[in-house]
Amino acid sequence: MSDRKRIYLCLAHMSGNEMKYIQEAFDTNWVVPLGPNVDGFEKDLETFVGQDKRVVALSSGTAAVHLALIACGVGPGDEVLVQSFTFCASSHPVTYLGATPIFIDSELDTWNMDPDLLEEAIRDRLAKTGRKPKAIVPVALYGMPYKIDRIMEIAERYDIPVIEDAAEAFGSRFKGQMLGTFGEYGVLSFNGNKMITTSGGGALITPDAEAWRNIMMYATQYRESYPYYQHEKIGYNYRLSNICAGIGRGQMTVADAHIAHHRHIQKMYEELLAEVPGLKVHSQPSTGEYDSNYWLCVITLDPSLRVKGQEYAYKAVVKGAVGGAAGVVHAASSAVTDCQPNDNVEALRIFLDAAQIEARPVWKPMHKQPVYRDAPAYLNGVSESIFKIGLCLPAGPYVTDEDVEYIVRCIKDALEG
Ligand SMILES: *Cc1c(COP(=O)(O)O)cnc(C)c1O
Repeated sequence: MSDRKRIYLCLAHMSGNEMKYIQEAFDTNWVVPLGPNVDGFEKDLETFVGQDKRVVALSSGTAAVHLALIACGVGPGDEVLVQSFTFCASSHPVTYLGATPIFIDSELDTWNMDPDLLEEAIRDRLAKTGRKPKAIVPVALYGMPYKIDRIMEIAERYDIPVIEDAAEAFGSRFKGQMLGTFGEYGVLSFNGNKMITTSGGGALITPDAEAWRNIMMYATQYRESYPYYQHEKIGYNYRLSNICAGIGRGQMTVADAHIAHHRHIQKMYEELLAEVPGLKVHSQPSTGEYDSNYWLCVITLDPSLRVKGQEYAYKAVVKGAVGGAAGVVHAASSAVTDCQPNDNVEALRIFLDAAQIEARPVWKPMHKQPVYRDAPAYLNGVSESIFKIGLCLPAGPYVTDEDVEYIVRCIKDALEG
């Protein structure tokens, strides 16, 4: 079993004509954070997302969140409503600006921002602070569209701009329209493990030419029009490199195939795991409005399910951080924290790991992160309960039908009784 090729969660797949664009960049000496590939990639993205949006290519999705917040006027002392169930890049840029994230829990259908809690939070912040939060950041977790109609209706009623974190939702649609085009701003990520990659990179979808120009100024150190460097505002060095944009252009030629493959893998998991008692595959609501890209497949395990080796879960302190973190790690001070996946989930992760299958817990909610212990949160228990029972399974272009069959066999093997 151990000489099997490892199946990773989601690997970058250079199956388009990436090298042609990279070669062109070298041949023409466009090896800077601007140039024909950056322009071409932005045009490709604009065509892809539609709705007459203008797109700025950036060095990361985190940078896109940061600039969108700046464009919404977020500054020191402000509050921003952020989905708690997410990767830290949705909320960290709020703190870069000296503002405070207000975390909103999820609903059970899509696992994304609960509209009822959102409205409760807006009213409560108004009552407590006398000021409206500056922006709303819903996230399309694992590609799943959030309850867009309801969130947008609330945002409009209270006149608060929406920054859609569609970092995981490249190509997902709601009622036929691309995620990231509903809000004032839309965030995309092209990190190495996302739907398409530029090795590292991101983009901000902006509503119009004026917003696009403003974001472009902030992304390039806010240089005024003089023959020398003149700065009237603080800017950032956030543009995407022309080399990386070349990878992006190549990836755009296979984007639709990638998305189709993710959906195919999800369907296989759904079919092959349908009969396993106590185990569920997270699927989109069947209203016909939702069209997730299914970036990753997520299963949940009933707490009563027994998994082989469960009694040993969390007995050893883990040595590396999840995802690698460049190999630089703090030694964990304990084998456990006060909020972690159930023992059977951890046991299944370890069982699959030994079978050369990478599985990962779902995002740990931000309101349970020590670094955000003082941030206000509006909760219903949903994200914390899913964190304890959820596990992400491999997806993406490198995962074959045979791999899925093998993964499902291993999951069934891991279950006792
Ligand atoms: C990946 C991701 C980001 C940020 O993207 P980077 O390109 O890694 O900076 C933001 N939000 C969510 C939900 C993500 O998954």
